[in-house]
This record gives sequence, structure tokens and C-alpha cells, in this order.
Amino acid sequence: MEKRELVIIGAGPAGLTSAIYGKRSGLDVLLLEKGIPGGQINVTDEIENWTGVIHASGAELADSFRKHAEHFKAEFRDVEVRSIDLSNGRKIVKTDSGDIEAEAVIIATGASFKKLGAPGEGEFTGRGVSYCAVCDGAFFEDQEIAVIGGGNTAVEEAVYLTQFASKVTIIHRRDSFRADRVAIERAMSNPRIDVIWNTVVEEIAGEDMVEKLVLKNVRTGDITELPVTGVFVFAGMDPNVSFMKGLVDSVGGGWIVTNERMETSVEGVFAAGDVRDKYLRQVITAAGDGATAAMAASAYISEQLHIQGLLLEPEHVTAFVFSSIDEPQARLASDIEKALAGTDARLVLLDGYRNKRIVEKLGIKELPALAEFKKGDLSRQQHIASLDEAVKFIS
Ligand SMILES: Cc1cc2nc3c(=O)[nH]c(=O)nc-3n(C[C@H](O)[C@H](O)[C@H](O)COP(=O)(O)OP(=O)(O)OC[C@H]3O[C@@H](n4cnc5c(N)ncnc54)[C@H](O)[C@@H]3O)c2cc1C
Repeated sequence: MEKRELVIIGAGPAGLTSAIYGKRSGLDVLLLEKGIPGGQINVTDEIENWTGVIHASGAELADSFRKHAEHFKAEFRDVEVRSIDLSNGRKIVKTDSGDIEAEAVIIATGASFKKLGAPGEGEFTGRGVSYCAVCDGAFFEDQEIAVIGGGNTAVEEAVYLTQFASKVTIIHRRDSFRADRVAIERAMSNPRIDVIWNTVVEEIAGEDMVEKLVLKNVRTGDITELPVTGVFVFAGMDPNVSFMKGLVDSVGGGWIVTNERMETSVEGVFAAGDVRDKYLRQVITAAGDGATAAMAASAYISEQLHIQGLLLEPEHVTAFVFSSIDEPQARLASDIEKALAGTDARLVLLDGYRNKRIVEKLGIKELPALAEFKKGDLSRQQHIASLDEAVKFIS
């Protein structure tokens, strides 16, 4: 089976940034992407909040991210990940064209548009119902259309759609938008935009193509009809985790829970970007997550090699685990090393400050400590306060 160091699933802003950081840390990086590298920004008309770039189209930004990852020689593969097998402590990523064993995996699969769930939505998708203004907006030249939703995406995309449509009606289930102030001001001052508040879509109807919406006012219960030829649905997002099937801890609908190092509940599996349970889902936060995940994955891989080579392979070895930023502990480490010089005892010095995960794994509660390994098994460990205690433990 193919074996790789770091496998990144998804080449959106999070995955591409992970690839850049992973390659720059010297890792062998494989990026798996089922669509076009760049992710959601490929369907974004303009980006005005990527620091240092006042204005760019989503496609331009996606292209520059991809080129940046290619510059550092990250390997791309055009495949869909179907599942991940984490049995027996291994990480096997199963794709539609073969399996890959990884030392660490970063899940950067982002999120997809939520469906409304209204009758007619499935039937008319591609025949008037759309989830992508950049992809489909131009089909509605001089027509009256509706946008469903009240967040930033809905409000911004409604403004974008006025380039084509003669009228855009935003239908929102609440009485105010959740978008930012600049976006709301732009929408409300646009003469082609109307808003229907406190209203949900009961049905999308028509013959071959969308012809009207049946609407319900959530306060009064009144049912009305709105004649439109297009409906753009921006009703929130769902995480792209169907291939994970509860492998890692997640909340509401599958958003992956991580700590600040982007570690999931499974060792060696990281998550970055929109797929995480997080406060703000944007390009800049996805990129930040991607950088953190790659650095944490790199530390994890070197820890694994460290443990394997230094502690698990020798017949008999003792590790002194200490904190390199604690002066007395660093001094004790060198005293122990000197005391054992010329004896048969095999000693490894391990910086527990930089390798916190190893400290956790060894069950060490307080540094410094000595841990003895026999044929790869931890036989005992003990907190050490002095050189005498250390010599007694080892002899
Ligand atoms: C219309 C719209 C407008 C937006 N406007 C802005 C904006 O102005 N500013 C801003 O900062 N953000 C904006 N965003 C949000 C921004 O695009 C996202 O926050 C960002 O793209 C998240 O990056 P990501 O890498 O986490 O995920 P994504 O961009 O979703 O990328 C995930 C990638 O993973 C791939 N993938 C998924 N499943 C699999 C699988 N099983 N196998 C292989 N590959 C897989 C997908 O194909 C995709 O390429 C907008 C989003 C949309 C939709």
C-alpha cells in the first residue's frame, strides 16, 4: 500500500495552506481533492477581507493559493476520499482510486450549502434553483429572482445578482439580517433589492422550470405567492464529513471538534477550516487553521519517530524527561548524563516541554521524571528530584 507522511483531504484555503506549511517543514505532503483546488472561493465573486489584498475575485485568490502550494512542490491528486480506516492504530485513507496509509491526516474538507428542504427544491435544482450566484447568476438576465437567507453570503450574493436580474427579493425568516454592516448597507441601498421579512418558503413550484414561490409569514401564518424564475438558496452550511462516519468527536450536524492545535479526538488526525466547530468561517481563519494543523502534524510525526527510534526499538533504555526551559531541570539532565558516562546504562534525554504529548503518553504527572523501557514496553516511571534519586532509579 502507498505510504505517505502527511495526507491532507481537501484543497481549499485550509488544505492549501497546510500543504505550504507542511512542505516547508520538510514533510512529504499529498493533497487529495475531488473538485477544483481553491474550494468554496471558486464560487465567490469577490473577496475584500483577505489581509493585504484589497480586492480579488475568488478564482484569482484560489489560483494564487494553488500556485503557492505547487511552488513548494506539494503533490496534488484528483480523487474523492470515501472513508478513513483508523483500526489497529493505523490511518488508512480510502479513495475512489486506491488506499493510502498516512502518518498524519488533516481533514480540510470544508462545508457545503444546506438545502432548504422545501417541496420542489430537489426537482428544480438546475432548473431555476441554485446554490451558487457566480456559477448561475448570468442565466437570469433581466428576470425577477429570489434569494433565501439572511447571513453575509445571502446579502452579498443578492447584491451580486443585481448585475443580471431586474429584481432580487431576499426572503428571510427573521426580522433582521445576520450579515455585517457594510454588506447590509450595500443591499438596502440597492434599488433592485426588496426584502420580505419573517417569511419561509413553503414550496418551489412551476412546470418545467421554476415559476413561483409559495411563501408563509411565520408571524401571521399568511400564505402568499411570489412569481420568480430563479431561487438562490443561502440557508447556511453543512460540514463535508459524510466519509468520516463519527470517527472523531463532533457537534451538531458533524462540525469537527478540535483543540487549539487542530487536534481531533483521534491522535494524528487533525482538522482545519470550515469543517471545524468554530466561531468564524472565512478564508483567513481557514488559512490560519491550516498553518496550525500542519505544524502540529509535523510535531506529531517527529514525536512518533522519536518514540519509535529512541524508546521502543532498543532492548533496554531509560529516558530522563525534563523541561528545557527550567534551568535546574536542564542542569540535572546534564548531571545525570555525566554520572552515567562510562557505565552500561543507556540514557535518552527527552525535552518534555517541546514534546508534551510524549509526557502525556508516558503518564508523567510532574517533570522531571525517569521512565524505563524494556523491549518497547514502559516498565516504570518516577518523578526525580535529585541526582541521588536518579542514580538509585537507574542502578
Ligand atoms: C458564496 C460564498 C462567498 C464567500 N465570501 C467570502 C468572503 O468574501 N471572504 C471570506 O473570507 N470568505 C468567504 N466565504 C467563505 C470561504 O470561502 C470559506 O470560509 C473557505 O473557503 C473555507 O475554506 P476550507 O479550506 O475550510 O474549505 P472549502 O473552501 O470548503 O474547501 C474544501 C475542499 O475540500 C474538498 N473536499 C470535500 N470533501 C472531499 C472528499 N471527500 N474528498 C476530496 N476532497 C474533498 C472540496 O472539494 C473543497 O475543494 C464565502 C463562501 C461562499 C460559499
